[in-house]
Amino acid sequence: MTGGERKQTAKPILVKTTDEIKIMRDANQIVAETLSMLFDVVEPGITTFELDCLAEDLCRKRNSTPAFKGYHGFPSSLCVSINEEVVHGIPSRKRKLKKGDVLSVDFGVCYKGFYGDSAVTIPVGKIKKPVHDLLRVTKESLELAIKEIVPGNRVADISRAVQSHAEKNGYSIVRQFVGHGIGNSLHEGPEIPNFISKGQTPRLIEGMVVAVEPMVNLGTHKVKVLRDGWTVITADKKVSAHFEHSIAVTANGPLVLSDRSDFSDK
Ligand code: MG
Ligand code: MG
Repeated sequence: MTGGERKQTAKPILVKTTDEIKIMRDANQIVAETLSMLFDVVEPGITTFELDCLAEDLCRKRNSTPAFKGYHGFPSSLCVSINEEVVHGIPSRKRKLKKGDVLSVDFGVCYKGFYGDSAVTIPVGKIKKPVHDLLRVTKESLELAIKEIVPGNRVADISRAVQSHAEKNGYSIVRQFVGHGIGNSLHEGPEIPNFISKGQTPRLIEGMVVAVEPMVNLGTHKVKVLRDGWTVITADKKVSAHFEHSIAVTANGPLVLSDRSDFSDK
């Protein structure tokens, strides 16, 4: 889940111990396993409600609790956002996936008091080339941002990496929602915008854990929130993509806690 609308009161930046980062790795690996499982089950005809049930079941089987359910009143375990939906879509029994859709799934858990948070955009069957390219570039923008997560860099270095790669490829960056620090709370400081703005940003120090989550649009950067109070869509109804990892700042460089390499993504 994203850090929500900007201009909230700044949340504290909390540095974690090595042992705490180990627990956060475990939390994020439950998220990684769940997203990987969703890659395998997503197909035309399945409802987003079924996906929500599968994710929640696996999360509870791993002795964790879904982080988003009940968060500011969000009703479900997964955020499911299809095509022009950017983030925070609500699973529904009535919403079946169709061939050619792209599904952004965002999932978070709480395990032993610590949070994990990660998101991916999954193609449903074969998708059109422009949409495929959008997904690839959004994922690349996250990978480039991760390389900047080293002690001594600033949050702006993360933001710049995402923004420059996405905009160079002709896409736009959602500005209303941002990434965030993560730890004992789902959303801690600092905010991690996917774009550069004026003013100095916090320096990255060893022990910080950040959730970086580019939301990249095919058309306008402008978004609006639907009447359900949650679902964010692009103002021009063009497709949006969302990828997110939770990453620890360590002396040895970025440690991607939600890495899925132990699981079998298609
Ligand atoms: Mg998330
Ligand atoms: Mg998040």
